[in-house]
Amino acid sequence: MLSLKEYNSFAVSAYADQLYLLDSPDQLTQILPLLRGSDNKLILGAGSNILLTGDFKGPVVINRLRGMRVIEDVNDSVLVEVAAGENWHAFVCWCVENGYHGLENLSLIPGNVGASPIQNIGAYGVEIAQYIDSITAVDIHGNRTILFENRDCEFAYRDSIFRQSPDHFLITTVRFRLSRKFSAVTDYSGVREKLEEEHTDPRTVTAQQLCRIICALRSAKLPDPSVIGNAGSFFKNPVLSADAYFDLRRQHAGIPAYRTTDSGYKIPAAWLIEQCGFKGYRVGDAGVYEHHALVLVNYGRASGDQIWNLAKSIRSSVAGRFGIILEPEPRIL
Ligand code: NAP
Repeated sequence: MLSLKEYNSFAVSAYADQLYLLDSPDQLTQILPLLRGSDNKLILGAGSNILLTGDFKGPVVINRLRGMRVIEDVNDSVLVEVAAGENWHAFVCWCVENGYHGLENLSLIPGNVGASPIQNIGAYGVEIAQYIDSITAVDIHGNRTILFENRDCEFAYRDSIFRQSPDHFLITTVRFRLSRKFSAVTDYSGVREKLEEEHTDPRTVTAQQLCRIICALRSAKLPDPSVIGNAGSFFKNPVLSADAYFDLRRQHAGIPAYRTTDSGYKIPAAWLIEQCGFKGYRVGDAGVYEHHALVLVNYGRASGDQIWNLAKSIRSSVAGRFGIILEPEPRIL
C-alpha cells in the first residue's frame, strides 16, 4: 500500500493500492486504460480539496503536468495557457510580475491550477470563472480530448461541470484571459480596512500591493497547510431565498448576510459555526481553527474519520439552531 499523506493537504494518513505520478502527457497512454478499467478512481493535484476518511481502492493519479506560456498578447488582452500541475499561487505571482491582471485577489489559495476551475475558486470578490477562457481535459471514459469553452464549464458558486462529474475528466491545461490594465477589486471590508491602515487609496493601489495585502489577510486568518493540515473553507456559505432570510433574521437579529446577484442572501457559514460555539473547539487532533471557524484542521494525528465526525457535529448543531444544512466544500472520500 502507498501512503497518500503527502498528497492531501489535511495530511491525514490513508493508503492507496495504486498510485501514478503524471509528469508528462505521454504517460496518459498507459494511465488512461487503468482509469477506464476501474469504477473507483481518484485524480488529484495538490489534494487541497479532499478529505480521505479511509484507504483508497483503485488507481490514484497525481497530476504534476507543468508549463506556463503566453499564447496571445494583443492590445490589452493576454491569453495564457497553464498546465494543470502548476502551483496556483506561483502562477498568480508570475502573472503579477509580468503585468497580466485579474487574479490578484486569488493570491495564496492553496492547490494547483488544474483543481482551481473544479470548485470555481473565489476570494475577496473575484471568482476564477471570470478569467477562464477555456479548459482542455481528457474525457476518461469517452477516450477523447475535449476543449471546454468557459460557457461549457457550467460555473456557479464553488461549482462547475467538473465538480458535478468527479473523476470523469482529467484536466490537462487551463487558459486564462487576463488584462494588461489593472483594475483593483477592493469591495471586501478586510481589503478596504487594510488599505486604510496603509494609507493607500484604492484607486491607486498597484497589483503588487493588492497581492501582498491579500497574502497578509489570508496568512493572518488561515492556517498554512504545510504547518497545520487543512483544506481551506470546510463548508460553503449557504444561500437563502429572501423569505427564508427575513424569517431567520426575525429569530436571530444581527445575522450577517450579503445579497447575491439572483436576489438570494448569502450567510457567512463561519458566523453560524461561531454562534454554535465551535471556533477553536478541538477533539483530539481534529479541530476548528482558532482564527477562522470555517476551517477544520488536523493538529497532527487526526484521522479523516475524526475530522468528518467533527464536521457532522458542526452541521447538526447549525441545523438545530438555524435550520440551515451546511454543505461541505471539499470532496469527502
Ligand atoms: P470575510 O471577509 O470574513 O467574510 C465572510 C463571508 O462573507 C465570506 O465568506 C464572503 O463570501 C462574505 N462576504 C464578505 N464580504 C462580502 C462582500 N462585500 N460581498 C459579498 N460577500 C461578502 O471572509 P473570510 O472568511 O475572511 O474570507 C475572505 C475571502 O477569502 C472570501 O471571499 C472567502 O470565500 C475566501 N476564502 C476562501 C477559502 C476557500 O477555501 N474556498 C478559504 C478562505 C477564504 P464569499 O466566500 O462568497 O466571498
